[in-house]
Amino acid sequence: MVKGSCLCGTVKWETEAPFNRMRHCHCARCRKAHGAPFATYFSVPKERFHLTAGAAAITRYPSSPEYHRSFCSTCGSVTPSTGNGDTVDVPAGCLDTDPETRPMMHIFAASTPVWDRITDDLPRHDTFEPGNDADVLPDSPAPESGGTLRGSCLCGGAEFEAGAPFRVAYHCHCNRCQKARAAAHTSNGSIAAEGLRYLKGEDLLVHFKVADAAFFTHTFCSVCGSGMVKPGTGERPFVTIPLASLDGDPGIRPTQHIYTNYNAPWFEISGDLPRRDEGPEIQTIDLFQDPA
Ligand SMILES: [Zn+2]
Ligand SMILES: [Zn+2]
Ligand SMILES: [Zn+2]
Repeated sequence: MVKGSCLCGTVKWETEAPFNRMRHCHCARCRKAHGAPFATYFSVPKERFHLTAGAAAITRYPSSPEYHRSFCSTCGSVTPSTGNGDTVDVPAGCLDTDPETRPMMHIFAASTPVWDRITDDLPRHDTFEPGNDADVLPDSPAPESGGTLRGSCLCGGAEFEAGAPFRVAYHCHCNRCQKARAAAHTSNGSIAAEGLRYLKGEDLLVHFKVADAAFFTHTFCSVCGSGMVKPGTGERPFVTIPLASLDGDPGIRPTQHIYTNYNAPWFEISGDLPRRDEGPEIQTIDLFQDPA
């Protein structure tokens, strides 16, 4: 039995192999919904999927006329979604046990954002794989930016301006990031807190702080569940932005993989970026307190 749960532990499920079509999806909707560079899903027939706790905590958001995405309303983790009615799509990032199945391909590779790169040898398809005749939806147009970098959630209810340069960006593989974004890893960047300005929808955001964490907070849109900007606090004068929430080029590119000792068993880190078992050598807070 393969088990999964959300970051706060309210939503829990179990499912039985065999699983179908484990794929990395780079589409813009997965990116926004997860607040991660890509999402990894497998699907399973409904009768082999059992929600064991937390049904009342799940919010469903129709991300297209035919498809609902689901998330935990308490912590914001993306949770399994009913696909076409007969199957359940399970995001691998929330698993508690090894599914013993591995990703077979990249889909929507053509939607990979400028700040990310696919570096492994799995087959890549621009949209769905050949033989899959599911509808390909056009990407929603990015909001008009007027030259300043903007970001928004999947439903468009919350929108912000990132008006300060990014000083750091990492791919983070820690298990809290995996759970919160229900993805293999996050790709986050930080700017000075005064550079962040909400244009709308700040009141839609929920900030879920993990009880036993010093700082770890997952911020998400209460309507669509998208991973959004983690706020700064008095002593932490910076904000952490999921690059996936941006509607333009942040300029910066992630420079390393951090917390790789937590890497998911189903995900193979590839490419030539440096890897660290622990956090970055220089704490982000020190970077922002340095007057230079
Ligand atoms: Zn939860
Ligand atoms: Zn997708
Ligand atoms: Zn939203």
